[in-house]
Amino acid sequence: MPTWSSVVVATPAHSGLGPALSYRSELSLAPGTLVRVPLGTREVLGVVWNGPDEPPPGLDPAQAKSVIGALEGLPPLSATWQQLVTFAARYYQRSLGEVALAALPPQLRELDAVQLARRLKRRAGKAAPAGRDGSAAPAVPPSSEEQAAVLAALPTATEPVLLYGATGSGKTEVYLRATDDALAQTAPEGEPPTQVLVMVPEINLTPQLEARFRERFAPRYGEGAVVSMHSGMTPAQRLGSWLAAHSGQARIVLGTRMAVFASMPGLRLIVVDEEHDPSYKSQDGARYSARDLAVYRAKVESEALAPRGQRCQVILGSATPSLESWHAADQGRYRRLEMPARIGGGALPRLRLVDMNHQPKGASIAPPLLAAMEARIARGEQCLVLLNRRGYAPVLSCDACAWKSQCPHCSAFRVFHKLDRTLRCHHCGFSSRVPRSCPDCGNLDIAPVGRGTEQIEEQLAGLLSDVKRPDGQTARVARMDADTTRLKGSLEQQLAALHSGEVDVLVGTQMVAKGHDFRRITLVASINADAALFASDYRAPERLFALLMQAAGRAGRDAAQSGASEMWVQTWHPEHALFASLRKYDFPGFAATQLAEREAAGMPPFGAQALLRADARTQEAAQAFLNAAAEAAASLPYRDEVTLYPAVPLTIQRVANVERAQLLVESASRAALQRFLAAWQPLLLDGRSVPGARGLLRFAVDVDPLVI
Ligand code: ADP
Ligand code: ZN
Ligand code: ZN
Repeated sequence: MPTWSSVVVATPAHSGLGPALSYRSELSLAPGTLVRVPLGTREVLGVVWNGPDEPPPGLDPAQAKSVIGALEGLPPLSATWQQLVTFAARYYQRSLGEVALAALPPQLRELDAVQLARRLKRRAGKAAPAGRDGSAAPAVPPSSEEQAAVLAALPTATEPVLLYGATGSGKTEVYLRATDDALAQTAPEGEPPTQVLVMVPEINLTPQLEARFRERFAPRYGEGAVVSMHSGMTPAQRLGSWLAAHSGQARIVLGTRMAVFASMPGLRLIVVDEEHDPSYKSQDGARYSARDLAVYRAKVESEALAPRGQRCQVILGSATPSLESWHAADQGRYRRLEMPARIGGGALPRLRLVDMNHQPKGASIAPPLLAAMEARIARGEQCLVLLNRRGYAPVLSCDACAWKSQCPHCSAFRVFHKLDRTLRCHHCGFSSRVPRSCPDCGNLDIAPVGRGTEQIEEQLAGLLSDVKRPDGQTARVARMDADTTRLKGSLEQQLAALHSGEVDVLVGTQMVAKGHDFRRITLVASINADAALFASDYRAPERLFALLMQAAGRAGRDAAQSGASEMWVQTWHPEHALFASLRKYDFPGFAATQLAEREAAGMPPFGAQALLRADARTQEAAQAFLNAAAEAAASLPYRDEVTLYPAVPLTIQRVANVERAQLLVESASRAALQRFLAAWQPLLLDGRSVPGARGLLRFAVDVDPLVI
């Protein structure tokens, strides 16, 4: 007697196929079982969602398709994993199958039972503990007082923990010890061993973190016990890590936002490092926040573990928490644990604001800043120069006519890259050689306008060419940004050059401010931060403050030098309130001011937002769809609990010949917004309810958008 299973496959919501498809199977399949099923003419991977099921009404059993087979040797995905996916799909307005299948490695489908057995065996070999003889964990430094206090408080915190700790206060060490404690809990007989998930915002940060975790835990739990998960891995590597996590052979998974969906049946602790980082919000597909999902996941895992007196803890760590998390801690929904002091007692650098109104016209590096850098180099110290724009100049322009290096496909300028003499669009990638003369009028004098990292590197190399280091050599300037680190291994090489002291001045984008532990940097300079002070994006000040705090944290890690370390900020607006908070490194003060402004304006976290975005061949078509969608909403329940704003073009409205527009939906309450979106989504998906969408290419809902 065949049974029925509902199976989710990778179908987008607008396919109209519903949340799950019904298939026949000979044996009854447990929920969470991975299966291969036919879909149209293809064979696809699916997940059994509900157990043995009734055939759907109206389906002719003779027409019904059958499950091709289960992936043998793989235990089913857990009920909590299914809960996480269900929540993410509902909250972010996507289909179950889209979210579920995007969370699984694509190569899983091709895996046969023999291969699988071989793989798991190979991994098991790696996982064999090296320290069977009872040899202890490598030497671990005694905790600082602050670390000890945090570690003592962790077991008492039942709510999500916000670890608010200065850069260099030893947060990573806290994660390591909390991991140690979580892994030391034994799982009941016959159940997978306990596991820990550690998330970081960027791929670049995984190697050094992995090294620290490996050093600490591999001797005890084996080399295979620590795995990474991020989009920079090959499909085969991703499959390997996924299988290790799913089977319980991996005890620790380190990864970027995608790792929040890792199948980890023994999960007891989730760490989200640099929790404020915007990279945790996905910008395509299901636009989920991995940080928010981590908090949700810890909650459902804990509920499942509660009957046996265990739980899954979540720690969000940052020196500059997101205002959402900070507010949650103010309200007592999160437990705030603080570590204000840096290990070794190093102080944060003294802030020096350079008022650009009083500097020579056109100087990109103010003379006093240059003098300060010269003095540092002569003493054998290093400097970090931060500029959020790569390339040589953001625009090339003709003096004689109005020609500018506009991208023909985007409403943006192409950036001048001097090294390879190209004009490159940073939005669509369109690139061409720099013209010898103005393409419009033939004028030979086409000039760069504005400055990027390439230009600052070149200028500094010129300006510092007479400066000698203590060893008599000429000062060396290097650059680190997305252009210089494109090749595999190049970032590591550049960091090594900095650590070994080969480089005296490093010029770079925000990439250099993140996470790296530089020892001899005593001066950090931010040379054009002003754009963020007056941006229309209400989150721009929050991001700037976080970036400058993080940059400051790169200086003076060495206590002996830290007394004299400095952070220079060049600005045309030294009176701006943000700098008053920054001078004292007063994040709580800054956060309080920002939160008060947000509360007055009903902005998140005091109100909830979503965007409906549309891409079309013309701006009219994109906006017509959005406005029609708003009209169609008029009769919906919950309509009066939300505000719908008129459709507007995106700041960069055209990218790769696609016109982009968006419509903002706001509500005083997150729940009301969710209720409205759930009612609205079927109308959006049904083309007849929202007419006038000719030329529409795609649309998407972005819940809790970071940029509006
Ligand atoms: P954070 O993650 O807060 O920036 P880290 O955990 O990376 O800080 O610690 C900063 C530095 O201090 C690292 O080099 C780390 O090895 C060291 N460190 C951390 N905790 C201790 C400790 N208890 N004793 C000695 N050194 C420590
Ligand atoms: Zn011209
Ligand atoms: Zn372009």
